Amino acid sequence: MRSVVDRMLGQGVLTRGLVLKCSRCRHTAFHPLDEVGRDFGCVRCLFRQPLLSGAWCDTPPNEPAWFYRLDELVYQALTENVVVPALALAELGAEAAQARHGWSFELWRGPNRQLELDFACLVDGRLSVGEAKVNGKFDGNAPSAVAEVRKTLPGATLLAADHVVFATTHPPHRRPVRNNGTRSIGSESPRQRPPTVTRVA
Ligand SMILES: [Zn+2]
Repeated sequence: MRSVVDRMLGQGVLTRGLVLKCSRCRHTAFHPLDEVGRDFGCVRCLFRQPLLSGAWCDTPPNEPAWFYRLDELVYQALTENVVVPALALAELGAEAAQARHGWSFELWRGPNRQLELDFACLVDGRLSVGEAKVNGKFDGNAPSAVAEVRKTLPGATLLAADHVVFATTHPPHRRPVRNNGTRSIGSESPRQRPPTVTRVA
């Protein structure tokens, strides 16, 4: 656990600090270590005060305890379910010489929005487009998998994608999406070589 915390501190994912209570307005807040010395300033009333025992709360009686704040960007990524596409893009580009990616595309034809794609990735000259789902959205049965492929097919066709990726944290099913999906795309796509379909879990 300590090594994980150290790694996250080094990466800036976590910030170490103290949780302190203002002696004037009683506001309690996290204060990064860089901003605390012999005294500290309240983030609400701006009153500066010495760092004494009355300022720390619900911590061991003799000395204040460390607290850790999660980086705001990481927090927003977690709450907005960016983890799944981020892991999928990392997997796609892991062994690539060149990889570029983008997030959350809307495809429009004239005034009409065709559909949304969660991510797209250009890996060594091959274009992958993808859908990302959190746990349980891809339930693994064939009709559901084919439905997901059919929904994504127009976007893949518009972009002439080489590869369609369905990313989920759900464990892989013993009947891969690849088989059903490729057959489904091949029957409808005008491309001579339909995009391959892969599920990343
Ligand atoms: Zn205050």
